[in-house]
Amino acid sequence: MRWVKRWLTWLAALLGLCLPFIQPRAQESADLLVTGGTVVTMDANRRILSDGAVAIRGDTIVGVGERAEIEGRFAAARRIDARGKLVLPGLINGHTHAPMTLFRGLADDASLRDWLEKYIFPAEKRYVNAEFVTWGTRLAALEQIRAGVTTFADMYYFEDDIARAAKEAGMRAVLGETVIGFSAPDNKTPGEALAYTERFLQRWRDDPRIRPAVAPHSVYLCDKDTLRRSAALARRFHAPILIHLAESQSELEESRAKHGLSSVAYLDRIGVLGSDVVAAHCIWLDAADIALLARRQAGCVHNPSSNMLLASGVAPVPQMLDAGVRVGLGTDGSAGGNHDLDLREEMGMAVALQKVTRNDPQALRAEQAVAMATIEGARALHLEQEIGSLEPGKKVDLVLIDLGNADGVPSYHPYSQIVYALRRPDVDTVIIGGRTVMDHRRVLTIDEPAVLAKARDYARQVQRSAGGVGK
Ligand SMILES: [Zn+2]
Repeated sequence: MRWVKRWLTWLAALLGLCLPFIQPRAQESADLLVTGGTVVTMDANRRILSDGAVAIRGDTIVGVGERAEIEGRFAAARRIDARGKLVLPGLINGHTHAPMTLFRGLADDASLRDWLEKYIFPAEKRYVNAEFVTWGTRLAALEQIRAGVTTFADMYYFEDDIARAAKEAGMRAVLGETVIGFSAPDNKTPGEALAYTERFLQRWRDDPRIRPAVAPHSVYLCDKDTLRRSAALARRFHAPILIHLAESQSELEESRAKHGLSSVAYLDRIGVLGSDVVAAHCIWLDAADIALLARRQAGCVHNPSSNMLLASGVAPVPQMLDAGVRVGLGTDGSAGGNHDLDLREEMGMAVALQKVTRNDPQALRAEQAVAMATIEGARALHLEQEIGSLEPGKKVDLVLIDLGNADGVPSYHPYSQIVYALRRPDVDTVIIGGRTVMDHRRVLTIDEPAVLAKARDYARQVQRSAGGVGK
């Protein structure tokens, strides 16, 4: 009988060894699974999963992969069936002035300087106050959420009220009070604006979705002292610096005449250009400027609609990308430089503008434009550790785009479809930081009828005012 006993002992030992492999692996818990869609990850390998899934816990992505794998690995109380939809990282609008949406269409067909000095600055002086920016930001948030934008970078006035309205709408935002060399609607001097900014940085620095910034307007509307003090304040708080840079030929000529340098080289000379800068436009650049932007790891935000409508010029986007510059995409404000906050449209514009200007159909491709609106946009805002792609560890900013409408069929290449074919009404569901802000085209965080009614009220006021502004 001894051999039986020994045999049984061996069997028990073998079972003991195998047991951990035989037992079904316990599922990990998640709060939400988005399953069955075409997941466009925008990760380093640009993985596209045609029957993919995303697992979400709290505000963080915990798994991305094939549907079967993710469904086997995670148990979640809630599910979103994404079959027939694209699942994308939320779009990133790298440069705008959100409340200017209430001036949409006020003045067209002017150069940047004329548009600013004859129309926009007087209109702002007259109408912009805390209430105006609150409603303007709500309107802008509504439009952006409907366009699949989950993050926007903004520089305007009464930025504290903008931050409150953005937070209320559930959006992620990088916000800076404009520091400008003349009396603004709220702060009368750059010194006042910087003091306001310091309080703003203190108030918002720990917010999970609002990233406070310092925003000197430009090298042509801020003197050297203001630019340097802005940078010093930003660096004390590890905050980004938002600025307009190399936007017009006249800015370049003025900088050369005054400083003997391009505006990019001047910003570098005075110690402002760095890896915390987010520079909007970057059009009038030479090879040395591009190399400098790459070396300093500054972010650039390309705004093709604005650049075209204000005849500002064509940014050398392909050269910047080749040089390794972080290039995102923005709408700019929607009051003449653009007329909407639809970042998908900017992707199409960016691509078409480079192709036609260079007479080269390969000058910029759809995939590059989608990257500029997502992961490259995150790099431009220096937020690539948090957002811009669908990968474990990143924040849950994602959009579902319906492929069931006429412009969604047929579906061969997701990048091409996103850039050239799909439209704003195809955006179905938007999740920001794990919170659903739009569900089947119903915006949950904004009282839409109230915002539209208020916007109409403002339009009547602006239009009625004797002499008015604009045309
Ligand atoms: Zn701007």
